[in-house]
Amino acid sequence: MDYSNIKLENIQPTWLPPQLRAAMLRLDLLHPDISGNKWFKLRHNLALARAAGKHTILTFGGAYSNHIAATAAACKMAGLQSIGIIRGEATATPSHTLLQAAAQGMQLEFVSRELYRQKEAIPWTTQFPDAYLIPEGGHNAAGAQGCEAILSLVPTQEFSHIICAVGTGTTLAGLINSALPHQQLSGIVVLKGAQYLADEVASLLKPRLQIAATQPASATPPSWQLLHHLHGGGYARTSPALIDFINTFYRETSIPLDIVYTGKMMWGFRELVQQGYFPANSRILLIHSGGLQGNLSLSSNVLCF
Ligand SMILES: *Cc1c(COP(=O)(O)O)cnc(C)c1O
Repeated sequence: MDYSNIKLENIQPTWLPPQLRAAMLRLDLLHPDISGNKWFKLRHNLALARAAGKHTILTFGGAYSNHIAATAAACKMAGLQSIGIIRGEATATPSHTLLQAAAQGMQLEFVSRELYRQKEAIPWTTQFPDAYLIPEGGHNAAGAQGCEAILSLVPTQEFSHIICAVGTGTTLAGLINSALPHQQLSGIVVLKGAQYLADEVASLLKPRLQIAATQPASATPPSWQLLHHLHGGGYARTSPALIDFINTFYRETSIPLDIVYTGKMMWGFRELVQQGYFPANSRILLIHSGGLQGNLSLSSNVLCF
């Protein structure tokens, strides 16, 4: 994969006071279909599949899943077959995500929501013997390890704070594992009531940091935390205020945000700024984790880009 499209971009929305400096790491520019953090979660998983002599990747997701979109495209690029186990029955008008995944050669297998909930207990390789399994969202140790590369794509040592959106916490874990001791990481959780995430993240940390997670925040740097109050109503819930915020942010910065993850991260960031969360002279790095394909689920006149 060619990383040369990825850039670091200073941002200056009107609500950012001059004593704070912020920049976005534009992982959304990586690739039209494999945008953002999903590639970093996949890259070691695809290599492990190859090393195990497998030619097919089997993974899981919903009808609008960025992970399904990215896996289909990454497998095509890597010359691997892919199978997507999709939550819910097939519908007469498939989502653009599923159409696109199928066009990339992914075999789609629809399962009921009930069966999907039990997916971890199902021996998929009985049915698909050549398949290498990647969990939903690329949530495993190889996924987190792949995300360790994110902070060395551009110089990031100067930043005091790092912010990302959190779904499974895999990306945040990789960032914590590769951050410098002086950096403080905050994950903006886009799911409601996802208190289990602290353990999920801690389980993917390097051993020296796992010990730290059970101790006071300052015990072993870098410090990190999950912010649970900025989900905007719950996973994939939007509001006119969020849409308006995303449109205004685009007009001010020319940076497109997605409605599920990065729009809420930015909204949450503004909230934190307004609450005085960041000391003066903080330098804040926001990870644009991509996901723009998800915006295609909206009518074309909702967003201004
Ligand atoms: C999947 C996704 C996330 C969440 O990443 P996790 O590693 O699951 O926490 C964040 N942003 C975007 C755009 C995503 O597609």
